[in-house]
Amino acid sequence: MERYDIIIVGGGPAGLTAALYCARAKLNTLVLEKKMPGGQILNTERIENCPGFDSISGLELAQRMEQHARKFGANIKLEEVKQILSERNAKVVKTAKDTYHAGAVILAAGGEPRWLDVSGEKEFLGKGVSYCALCDGPFFAEQTVAVVGGGDAAVQEAIYLSKFAQKIYLIHRRKNLRAKKELQEELFKNPKVEVIWDSVVENIEGKEIVEKLLLRNVKTGKNRPLEVSGVFVYIGFVPNSNLFNKNLQLDERGYIKTDYRMSTSVEGVYAAGDIRFQLAKQITNAMSDGTTAAIAAEAYLKEKGLV
Ligand code: NAP
Repeated sequence: MERYDIIIVGGGPAGLTAALYCARAKLNTLVLEKKMPGGQILNTERIENCPGFDSISGLELAQRMEQHARKFGANIKLEEVKQILSERNAKVVKTAKDTYHAGAVILAAGGEPRWLDVSGEKEFLGKGVSYCALCDGPFFAEQTVAVVGGGDAAVQEAIYLSKFAQKIYLIHRRKNLRAKKELQEELFKNPKVEVIWDSVVENIEGKEIVEKLLLRNVKTGKNRPLEVSGVFVYIGFVPNSNLFNKNLQLDERGYIKTDYRMSTSVEGVYAAGDIRFQLAKQITNAMSDGTTAAIAAEAYLKEKGLV
């Protein structure tokens, strides 16, 4: 069983920033990432709001962050964490392959898009159902697509899809969008976008690929079919906060509660990035959280005599 000073769960911007700070502080640092370092920025074609990079691809930024953390000595392993247990002065992190010990843990595992939970959604995943316009938008050139949701993500991605698709329906369950005013203004000006208000998706239909949606107007109760080749679901986000759920305090949305040091309700366990509630899920917020968590965790390890 390998022992580290600190284990960071998740290799997105929060986790890789924490890894950089921990490694530079000479802590024996392990990052456990289930897929590929980068997290959600890997789904982002161009990033223009990370200071110092006026335009960079998500993939390149992820690779730079990974190399930077490795350069200072962080270990990064591609293993999915299954369970984390807290023992006296030690955290036990179990992956599908191995078990690791550490003095402290930083949870930076982000989250997943929320599903509509309607018939056809799983069946047509990758066959017209998508949660990533940046990844799949170009497949819908000159076609008709739907975007579901009324927040910043839905509105922003509907605008993005207008680069490719011929027509975009934005389906929202109310009569007012939750999205920022600037985004709403841009959406309403876009001639390719039509908003369908007060409506929800009842099911997704097709033979081999998506062909139509069945919509229900929540005010009138009436159903209507909508012919589309694709549907992009942007109805929120579910944080990956359940690895420790017995003792870890979560808020009503399932995000991990932290204080200003990123400390959670479990001693020696910190949280950073999209796994805790953020006004904006931005790279810069994730980096800031990762920095704070790393500094606080280092202080904790020293105070407890664990390093
Ligand atoms: P969000 O703000 O929580 O919005 C989710 C939207 O989905 C809401 O309009 C909600 O409707 C709708 N919805 C939820 N469950 C639904 C269901 N079962 N069926 C149909 N509709 C449903 O989520 P988000 O848009 O992913 O944004 C999350 C955070 O990231 C926000 O803080 C946002 O500001 C930030 N963000 C920022 C940017 C940007 O600044 N450019 C871009 C993307 C995201 P109701 O409105 O009726 O609740």
